[in-house]
Amino acid sequence: MIDVSNLSKSYGDVEALRDVSFNIASGEIVGLLGPNGAGKTTIIKILTGYLQPDAGTVLINGLDVLEHTREVQAQIGYLPETAPLYPELSVQAYLKMMADLRQIPEAEQRALLSEAIYATGLQDHLTRPIAHLSKGFRQRVGLAQAILHKPRLLILDEPTVGLDPTQIVEIRNLIRRLADHSTVLFSTHILSEVEALCDRVIILMNGQVKADARLSELEATSDAVLVLERRLPEAQNLLQHLPQVQGVGLFNSHDGFPAYRVFGRKAPAGTAGYNDLCPAIYELARKNDWPLRELRRDVRTLETVFNELATQGSAVTNSTMEVAQ
Ligand code: ATP
Repeated sequence: MIDVSNLSKSYGDVEALRDVSFNIASGEIVGLLGPNGAGKTTIIKILTGYLQPDAGTVLINGLDVLEHTREVQAQIGYLPETAPLYPELSVQAYLKMMADLRQIPEAEQRALLSEAIYATGLQDHLTRPIAHLSKGFRQRVGLAQAILHKPRLLILDEPTVGLDPTQIVEIRNLIRRLADHSTVLFSTHILSEVEALCDRVIILMNGQVKADARLSELEATSDAVLVLERRLPEAQNLLQHLPQVQGVGLFNSHDGFPAYRVFGRKAPAGTAGYNDLCPAIYELARKNDWPLRELRRDVRTLETVFNELATQGSAVTNSTMEVAQ
């Protein structure tokens, strides 16, 4: 549904995007995750036809955004970072104005307005001026205008920014419901947002795609953690020589015991899944009579992945993941 190829964009000497490419299939809900200034809004403005790239192409449903801007915009529901709401208008008047601007025929407006209003839970606030609404309800109005024409593709720029925890939960639930009928791409700098909503994440840093994978792939690892009762000089070397082991790090466990993080080798290209190193490590510990305290597979959260990428700068696609040694 979205095909982005080799997008680059600079603002003067600020290189906001560098050779960005990704595809999003119909029905996916994808998080575009990145720190402030990573280039998320720039990508979203280009995808929605509000900004021209310096290089690269964007196809939405096979249509080039630059050549068919209006047609593409008619197929997209777009929630900008700050939705251009008209504070003096009532919710109803604003949504009616948006329906007119979208050139929805009068005969269809009533049903579509009603559907968008109920989907976003605005039915009890229709006559209130937008200026009198809380930030969460203003965001709902923004979402209501985005879904008014029943788009198959929703692009939401930081949909929960500035909301309180209750409002965040409400907006997330709403996005989840909308995703039943539409493909959704949303940007965020909040890791938990991606974990709560998406199957797939595209991580953007300094204008480049650093990772593009399903969450389960990113979080998968064969790394293991071994904790011993006391430090053994030979342990690190013996662990290092196990097949499938790429590196071994030594650290102190939370309760002060020597802990070894054993990094597994990357799976060969074209093979899926990860080896479990624990049986081989257990066998080594048993044979050498090591004072074993704990042995477990390491857990990688999205936060771990994000921090690794921020410090390493390596690119990750389709489950190939550089591991720190
Ligand atoms: P945030 O999470 O803070 O909204 P972002 O990931 O959406 O950030 P962008 O807004 O796309 O990032 O900005 C990417 C880079 O381009 C930043 O360095 C930003 O300062 C710069 N930038 C964005 N818009 C402009 C502009 N109109 N003029 C000059 N520089 C800009």
